[in-house]
Amino acid sequence: MKIYEIKASRALAPSGLPEYDYSLNPYVGCLHGCLYCYAMDFTKGPPAAAWGQVVYVKINLLELLRREVAKAKPGIVGLSTITDPYQPPEARYKLSRGAVEILAQAGFHVSIQTKSGLVVRDLDVLTRHRDAVDVGFTITTMRDKARILEPLAAHPLARARAAAKLAAAGVKVWIFLGPVVPGFNDDPQDIAEVVKFAGEIGAELVYDRYRPKPRADAHLAARYRRVEPTPRWWSRVKKTIEEICAREGVRCRDVEEEWREARRRG
Ligand code: SF4
Repeated sequence: MKIYEIKASRALAPSGLPEYDYSLNPYVGCLHGCLYCYAMDFTKGPPAAAWGQVVYVKINLLELLRREVAKAKPGIVGLSTITDPYQPPEARYKLSRGAVEILAQAGFHVSIQTKSGLVVRDLDVLTRHRDAVDVGFTITTMRDKARILEPLAAHPLARARAAAKLAAAGVKVWIFLGPVVPGFNDDPQDIAEVVKFAGEIGAELVYDRYRPKPRADAHLAARYRRVEPTPRWWSRVKKTIEEICAREGVRCRDVEEEWREARRRG
């Protein structure tokens, strides 16, 4: 594992995702090293070439962000879109913690997504700004097999404990069931466990299928197996997810459907 400090030229970037106005990525690369991670297709240099083994830390991020928020129009910031904001280096650098504080104070909304329990460290900041933040925990399965595709991320039960703690403290929490990978986490029982957990903590479930990207697909094929998410497969699994959510009384949203809707609206 190699960690390098770099100086970035900007902190906030316009987001390509319709649900965010800006993206903020304090790190380049991700030491969680998920085998299916599409971020490797949007990352350059050593962190992409040795996915999960090299990360760059933007040590001047908070300085840049303080300057940028004074000029930028407040909006929704995705923290993060191509890295995990609470991956191991965050314990030392506290960039995500600092960014949430700066953004919330400047009138931005911060939407965090993580696979780490470290976010609980920032419970003080998150509760202080609870109207300006939401926290998504990715849980692809509640089972030990998560390690196969997410080798260095926290165990899903540790993520679940962190999610429950934040929800109990009044922070808006959502559970991301994604990506759903054919033959890995598409079994109805598997899905039901994640949905039930979301219901237990009063969280909404957001779900998405595995969408192949060239680098991620090759990475997954080399280290796990080649997967084929056909439209027929997804239509069946999507129906299963929706049925389980309806049965358990959990509000659920399909990311892709929302993107399509947002594009239609322009
Ligand atoms: S935690 Fe997220 S950003 Fe990090 S490797 Fe896994 S999918 Fe990619």
